[in-house]
Order: sequence, then C-alpha cells, then structure tokens
Amino acid sequence: MKVLVTGGAGFVGSNLIRALLAETRFHVVNLDLLTYAGNLENLADVDGHPRYRFVRGDICDAELAAELAAGASAVVNVAAESHVDRSIASAAPFVRTNVLGTQTLLAAALAQGVDRFVQVSTDEVYGSLPWADPEDVFDSDADSTGATAAEARFTEETPLAPRSPYSASKAGADLLALAYHETHGLDVVVTRCTNNYGPYQLPEKLVPLMITRAMEGKTLPLYGDGLHVREWIHVQDHCRGIVAALERGRTGQIYNFGGGAERTNRWMVGRIVEAVGADPGLIAHVEDRPGHDRRYAVDATKARRDLDWTPRIGLEAGLQETVAWYGENRRWWRRPASGEYRGAA
Ligand code: NAD
Repeated sequence: MKVLVTGGAGFVGSNLIRALLAETRFHVVNLDLLTYAGNLENLADVDGHPRYRFVRGDICDAELAAELAAGASAVVNVAAESHVDRSIASAAPFVRTNVLGTQTLLAAALAQGVDRFVQVSTDEVYGSLPWADPEDVFDSDADSTGATAAEARFTEETPLAPRSPYSASKAGADLLALAYHETHGLDVVVTRCTNNYGPYQLPEKLVPLMITRAMEGKTLPLYGDGLHVREWIHVQDHCRGIVAALERGRTGQIYNFGGGAERTNRWMVGRIVEAVGADPGLIAHVEDRPGHDRRYAVDATKARRDLDWTPRIGLEAGLQETVAWYGENRRWWRRPASGEYRGAA
C-alpha cells in the first residue's frame, strides 16, 4: 500500500514519515517543493529506505499530483506555508499553497480513486479563546488537567473563526476537504492539532527560536506581555495521532489533538532559559504581533475515545529532550536558508 505524504521535508512531515516507516507497512512517497522550510537533511536517516521515495514538486501542480496519487491508497496533506508572521507580511503564498494546493490534491485524489485523504490542520482555525488572566493559571508548572480542563476549549464543533491569514488559509483548506467529502463522497479525515515542539523544527517558531538564541547568548524576543497561552504537544505525539486518523479515523470526521499542557509563552521561554543554562536577562519584551491570538486549547476527547490515541510525552521531559537535540545538532540549525540548506532536488 502506498501513501502520498506532502510536505514531508518539513518539521511535522519528516517526523510523520519516520513514524509511518517505523510503525506501518506503507510505502511512502514524499512530495515536497523544498521551500525555505523544507530540508532533506530532516530525513537523512531514512534516505535509501526500501519503502521511501522523494519527489521534488509543488502540490499546486495538478499533473504531478495526479501522477503521484495514482495507485496510492491514501494522501496525507502536510505541506503548507506555516508561519503566522510570514502570512502577515505576505498572504499570497499561503492562499496559493494552503488553499489552491489542497484543492489540487483533493481533485487528484478523487480522480485517481484514492481511498482516504487526511488533511493535517491546526487548532488555529478556531480563532482565539477568551482568557481574562492567564497569569494565574497558565504561568505555572501545573498541567491543565483537572480544574482548568473544564474551562472553555475548542471542540470539533466549535465554529471556525480564524484571525490570521495563515489560519484563514488553513480553514479554507479544511472546508474544501470536507466539501469534497460531502459533495463527491471522497473519504476525508481532518486533524487539528495544538502547537508542536520537538526535533527538526525551524528556528522561526517559538521553541527552537528561543533555544537556539539562548544557546548563542542572543536576546530572546518575547511578544507583548508574554502571557499568550498555547497548549503544547510533542511532534511525535501529533504524528502518532495522524497515523491513527489515517488508519482508524471515521470518514468525514474531524479530530482534535492536544498535549494537555497549557503554558504562557513567558513560562516556556523561562523554562528554556533554565534548560539551556542561559542568562534570564536575555529575555526582552518586544512589540506584540498584530492580531495575536490570546489562547488556544482543544478538547481532544474524541481522538482519545475514537482513535484510542493519547499523548505520551510530558512537556518537561519533551522540552529537556528537545533542548538536548538542538545542542547536539548545531550544524543543522546554523545552516542558512540557501540552496545548500534546502538539499538536492
Ligand atoms: P513547515 O513549514 O516546517 O513544513 C512545511 C513543508 O511543506 C516544507 O517541507 C515545505 O517545503 C513544504 N511545502 C510548502 N509549500 C509547498 C508546496 N507548494 N508544495 C509542496 N511542498 C510544499 O511546517 P510544519 O510546522 O511541519 O507544519 C506542517 C503542517 O502541520 C501544516 O499544515 C500545519 O498547519 C500543521 N500543523 C503544524 C503545527 C506546528 O506546531 N508545527 C501544529 C498543528 C498543525
């Protein structure tokens, strides 16, 4: 059985391909454009694996998408423009890849008779949860089980209310995927996960940005008051969820994945500084991101119940392991975003 994974040279995609090769019998074809975010070094350990093949290309290329979808039993669409700040500076690439690219893949999957299409999405499509005083609850070491779990969280029924061009483009993609299910009967499953951290994440995102800057003794720019709350999950727990959705998800359904550990950005940066052994004086509050969502958190009951999925990696252990990984892989994150960085075609 063949699965077409898109965006496999990125952060989530490379961790997913590693999981698919280790935990399933799928033959994996990785379609990736190798944008600034794609790096074949992320998959150096599976290069030459008998069930793995890489194809450099664009998910907006209808001919290529049809060619690769032919004979595939599943498509898992991970490819995306993924950085909110970049979407604020320039939204067009987000609409092109995230919306048009997804529709191109959906049409190819339908035409080629693919059995299942998994659309990998984000909790950011739900918008921002109100939270009056995050300092009291999420700026501490306690996990958000028990009392805080009863607070408002996004469920799969929460209406979409994206607030950045990135999340709006992802919401558009989700709606198209679900529309292909309703209209054409394509077997679609949508997954929506909270903020990931872990190995192979480009240092433009909060956790690796802070880890790598702290390691170099550079200032650590924290947006606004630093009290924006995110629910953190290790990328390997996210990828196990995607595999579960691929294998056991019910057609036409949406599954939220969350790690259960809600923290303010300030808490995360403080913990990273501690783990790296850097000077807390490096933390510098900078002007907030426009439209910065205050809090995200999901109710992942449905995935736990229907997919028998549960996150396994605790935040403290996962963060320590991630800091160690960036310490051991300085050459990986110090390489500039150049042709060399992107790897061979
Ligand atoms: P990333 O930016 O690290 O990787 C994106 C990959 O897609 C890169 O390899 C890039 O080369 C490729 N790509 C971009 N445009 C392409 C195109 N037109 N054709 C083919 N390939 C293209 O992103 P990520 O953090 O790995 O996120 C991947 C997906 O997971 C996204 O859809 C994102 O919404 C979702 N997600 C991520 C997180 C997170 O915290 N990282 C959380 C929830 C959901």
